Amino acid sequence: MLLTKRQNEILIMIKEKSPISGDEIAKRLSVTKSALRTDFSILTGLKLITSKPNRGYIYNGCTTNVVKDFMSPQNSIDIKTSVYDAIIHLFNYDLGTLVVVEDGKLVGIISRKDLLKSVLNGKNMEKIPVSMIMTRMPNIVYCFEEDSVLEAIEKIIRHEIDSLPVLRQENGKLTLVGRFTKTNAIKLYYQELKNKNI
Ligand code: ADP
Repeated sequence: MLLTKRQNEILIMIKEKSPISGDEIAKRLSVTKSALRTDFSILTGLKLITSKPNRGYIYNGCTTNVVKDFMSPQNSIDIKTSVYDAIIHLFNYDLGTLVVVEDGKLVGIISRKDLLKSVLNGKNMEKIPVSMIMTRMPNIVYCFEEDSVLEAIEKIIRHEIDSLPVLRQENGKLTLVGRFTKTNAIKLYYQELKNKNI
């Protein structure tokens, strides 16, 4: 999630002078404290700041960044989808990697290059299902929505891949809930640089 200009200004103030009261931030921005209520609740919700009773706001930094706050929405194709339709899906949704599911469960992953390779092989793309070309479980590298962003980025770097499917563990069941991509990581990095005023 990208922050607004004002949320960034608030974050920088809190970072430079922690703790700082809501009244002082409002005074510096020449607005009323109630006008900032939504901004404070967004920043608190993202765990970037914490409100301390009788002290004001303190900065948490990026130590508590978790995948679910920065991931992209779930987007997947069924295992029976043809390679041709998978390519169409990739363009329609502006994706770089496709997540493949069977009965709602994560079973495969296909990158742009996997699709290009199958096109170069000259097979009938409308007949071949994605199951023929996808990387399968147990070789899929994934993460959980509560994992730290740092762990997710480390996996992307270590395995030299562009994205990770994000899973939720609930009552012993694994559900696919999103994707964590290099773009999500870049946006976060951009935000951090802006917060530091670089
Ligand atoms: P590209 O192939 O377009 O450079 P990637 O680097 O993401 O994109 O993919 C490289 C290879 O790794 C592909 O064969 C792809 O199927 C596989 N791959 C991509 N993402 C994952 C993942 N999360 N887990 C396991 N394998 C993956």
